[in-house]
Parts: sequence; C-alpha cells; structure tokens
Amino acid sequence: MFPSPSRASPEHELASSNNLCYSSGVIYDFHTHSSLSDGDLSPLELMHRAVKSGYRAIAVTDHVGIGQLERFIAEITKDCVLAEKYWDIVAIPGVELTHLPASAISDAAKYARETGVRIVAVHGETIVEPVEQGTNKAAVQSPYVDILAHPGLITIEEATLAKRNGVFIEISARKGHSLTNGHVASIARATGASLLLGSDAHTSEDLLSTGLAIAILQGAGLAEGEIDEALQTNPATLLAKSGKF
Ligand SMILES: [Zn+2]
Ligand SMILES: [Zn+2]
Repeated sequence: MFPSPSRASPEHELASSNNLCYSSGVIYDFHTHSSLSDGDLSPLELMHRAVKSGYRAIAVTDHVGIGQLERFIAEITKDCVLAEKYWDIVAIPGVELTHLPASAISDAAKYARETGVRIVAVHGETIVEPVEQGTNKAAVQSPYVDILAHPGLITIEEATLAKRNGVFIEISARKGHSLTNGHVASIARATGASLLLGSDAHTSEDLLSTGLAIAILQGAGLAEGEIDEALQTNPATLLAKSGKF
C-alpha cells in the first residue's frame, strides 16, 4: 500500500534524521490548484511535478462554485486518467468548494459527487478571508465532504462533528491560512478529529517535500505519532474512502 521510492532522497534523510516514526518517505497531498482555477500550472504539469517531488498521491482540487463544476471535473478527470496510466502516481479529480453560501455547501458537495468528483474539500473559515460564517459547520455536517480545508479558528463543536462524520481537518502549508495551524492541531487533539496536511499549492514551489511536511506539523505542535497519522494513516484512510485502494 505504501511503495517506497526507488532511491533515498534528501527528504528521506531529513525524515530519518529527525528520528520520527514516519518512515514511508512518500507524500500524499489532497489540496492543490491548477490553471483551471487560480494555479499557475496546467493539471498535467502539476501532476508531473508532483511525481518528480516524490508524491505518491495528489488530488487536484480547483476552486469551484456550481457553475464551473461539471466542466472542471470532466477536464481534470481526463488528465488524471492519463497521469495514472503513464506515471507512478495516484491522481484524483477533486474540487475545493469555495465561497459558497454556507447553506448551499452540502447540496453542492452532493452534486460534485454525482459529477464524478472523488475528493470534496471545502474552503474553510480561514482568518485571512471573509469566508461566510457557518461554512465550517456546514462542511463537517455534510456526508459528501471529505476535507475541511484551513478551518481557521475551528470550534470544539465543529471538530467534534468532523470526527463523528469522518471529515478530515486540514493543517495548511499555505501562507496566511497556516496562521491558525497550532489552534487547529490543539482542537483536533482535544476532540479526536483526524488531521491531514494540505499544500494548497498554486505554484510548483508550493509542492511539499517530506522534510517540509514534517517541519510544518512539528511547528503546529504535533507529536511524532500524530505526525505519522497525518502523513500516512489518515491519507490511507481517505484513499480507501475515495475508492483508490
Ligand atoms: Zn481554500
Ligand atoms: Zn485551496
């Protein structure tokens, strides 16, 4: 389930030098953007650069409301199929439901599922944008949502609902959204909600390395076992849920 890269990478060395139990050295990233929305790279270039960065799996989760959803997912699905056929990567068509009215989120997530979206993320209540209040709660209550991205000052109630409904909560690698990572980590620990690390990559420089992934999670205050869960156990659970394994 967790194939090792064929050669030792600098990231491997950094991971082992930190004496962490996280040892697979492969990267799972379920939050990235292509030029379909506001990313710099075409979907295929994004996925190819992810392969070169040691990724095992990537979800391309462009910003959508309702209008573009069907067109985006048709295009990204074709490129994901091509990437998986020729490259050693799990490529997943996803979306990030962004700046929707909170009351419309669950219906939009259901619609996304019906159009073939495999990973549904919701653009959560980051402290650096005026995301509609109630977005976090709507996301964690929906059976059609996989990830609540950058949830800002997430509450105990929201995280408890996330745990109950199997919605993952994101630790963000993105400037601005990452300002509340420590809070998100502590609320997840208090409630048992499951964490994932998302790059929220918009450029090639934003893609994760193993060393950076570990450092961000350490910076959020996660202990060794919690880092292993966020980088390996929880991604495996999400991949199984999305039908990839
Ligand atoms: Zn977002
Ligand atoms: Zn994003």
